[in-house]
Amino acid sequence: MNKAKRKAVIAGNWKMNKNAAEAAELISALIPEVAGADCEVVVCTPFTDLPIAVSKTAGTNIAVGAQNVHFEKSGAFTGEISAEMLTELGVQYVIIGHSERRQYFGETDVTVNKRLKAALAAGLKVILCVGESLEQRQQGVTAELVAMQTKIALGGVSAEELKHVIIAYEPIWAIGTGLTATAEQAEEVCAVIRGVIASLYSEADAETFTIQYGGSMNAKNADELLAQPDVDGGLIGGASLKAPDFAAIVRAASR
Ligand code: PEP
Repeated sequence: MNKAKRKAVIAGNWKMNKNAAEAAELISALIPEVAGADCEVVVCTPFTDLPIAVSKTAGTNIAVGAQNVHFEKSGAFTGEISAEMLTELGVQYVIIGHSERRQYFGETDVTVNKRLKAALAAGLKVILCVGESLEQRQQGVTAELVAMQTKIALGGVSAEELKHVIIAYEPIWAIGTGLTATAEQAEEVCAVIRGVIASLYSEADAETFTIQYGGSMNAKNADELLAQPDVDGGLIGGASLKAPDFAAIVRAASR
């Protein structure tokens, strides 16, 4: 597998942090820090920050993403946001199936698949999250589970549409805990995901497919994680909330 065929993508997942003024401040600090990046840079903000994030990043190398999207175009879905509402704002990316959505908001592999297809149909790029809990890892089912999550999420997605999908491997036990998967653990599962892409699509599609690692990635561990042959980028939570920390990871991905 030739890593040079894939563009690294470093995406910040701000979760439910930063009001509009704080978002503007963080993006202003980030713009000069990541201006020369040799990787794609994305900030996934709360819905309420999307307009300011889109206007502040206009003309820069930073793309803006949302953290969820509904699968219907409109209707009686109180509290939800459609894919068209996001693209109309100028949003380019959306995170789908984050473990916090699966854990706290009843997200299932089936609804992940519905959201993913709706997002692609509207022209959004998708960061699809998969990953195991600590219990599942201890039971030895990580590879099977992540393969199943990937297969169900990509059901009905064509090879052409796949070009607009990235997968973030995020072990749940490493998210927001300060516990990072070792580089070997991250590589092992990212390689499993690439194998699933090859079996569902083709070796050529797998070779150009971007797979991120996410889970307490920071300036200190980014180099080693990003050096793994099947790790093409990162989905960053906590460390994306401070411009210097996030920029250090972007620099690691640009080396
Ligand atoms: C995340 O929320 O996707 C994440 C990886 O968070 P953290 O970097 O804080 O572990």
